[in-house]
Amino acid sequence: MRDTAAGIEIDAVTKLYGSVRAVDGVSLSVPPGSLVSLLGPSGSGKTTLLRLVGGFETPEAGSIHIAGRDVTPLAPQKRPTATVFQSYALFPSMSVGENVAYGLDAKLPKAERQRRVQESLARVDMAVLGERPVAALSGGQQQRVALARALAVEPDVLLFDEPLSNLDAELRVQTRAEIRALQQRLGITALYVTHDQEEALALSDQIAVLRTGQLVATGTPEALYAQPPTAYVASFLGGANVVRGPLAERLGGRPLADEQALAVRPEDLAPETDSASGVPATLLARQYLGREAEWVVEADGVRLVLRVAPDLAPPEALRLAARRSTVVLDDLSQNPTPSPE
Ligand code: ADP
Ligand code: MG
Repeated sequence: MRDTAAGIEIDAVTKLYGSVRAVDGVSLSVPPGSLVSLLGPSGSGKTTLLRLVGGFETPEAGSIHIAGRDVTPLAPQKRPTATVFQSYALFPSMSVGENVAYGLDAKLPKAERQRRVQESLARVDMAVLGERPVAALSGGQQQRVALARALAVEPDVLLFDEPLSNLDAELRVQTRAEIRALQQRLGITALYVTHDQEEALALSDQIAVLRTGQLVATGTPEALYAQPPTAYVASFLGGANVVRGPLAERLGGRPLADEQALAVRPEDLAPETDSASGVPATLLARQYLGREAEWVVEADGVRLVLRVAPDLAPPEALRLAARRSTVVLDDLSQNPTPSPE
């Protein structure tokens, strides 16, 4: 790895596919040594933006700098980047070691190639499997080989496109922690595409939220979760209920302007024990989830989701109170709530 980590500067980048603005005037800084996630629903432009940074697409407008150098006109292999693809893009009949060596410059001396292959396989705990054909490996092991292959070129920047989506839930959680630990240990700059809000919250120094090609919010996981700027961010990151009008004013206990809405997270909405206060509601459905239960209720014609203790019995006359809520810019009133994928 290089000694000095390289930052990424994406400046007013636009990519069109016919009339589709896949990436629409996006500017984003990825500070050296940090991991920034691109988070958004399917079709929001995450992959396209990542491919623009990797050099697999050329923008119609804007520029991309890495370590202060304009890379916009450069081909992928001329950029200091390496990508871990969703599909891994491995050669099944080749051995682990051959796959890792594949992306290396043919002019590298043989000893140096071997050193890089060994070192990167060791970094992902795959050193002993170098001779195996890739087809004989589990999904989790293939994911590690793809990561080792990216590391072997000793890039300044790692690009990830939903690298965990082919793994089962338990392995996903374990592997994302390993990717984060490795990224921090190497101090390497990373841009990480995901549609999974929990993954973005768990991994990132900063999250960049995309919506139909546009960057709509950037911030630390803590800041975006606690203080979402818009209804879109509140509902995508944490699944908040978005409420408007008189119901919102009663739940939030404060007046709202026309362009504002109230975001209330399912865990912040609770049955009121004092029967004189709170907003009357009807229970529509209950789901037991082990550690908690999810209630779907209706208040004032609006469906709301609650997360409550699993053993809580619904009262005869249900009334709701919001323990906490955030006033957000209502950018959803014309559009349906986004859902992952
Ligand atoms: P995401 O990765 O967030 O799911 P993409 O970047 O793949 O989103 O896609 C963004 C938009 O661009 C979508 O509307 C998609 O249909 C369109 N798109 C992506 N790649 C192509 C392509 N090669 N040709 C035409 N349209 C594309
Ligand atoms: Mg994608």
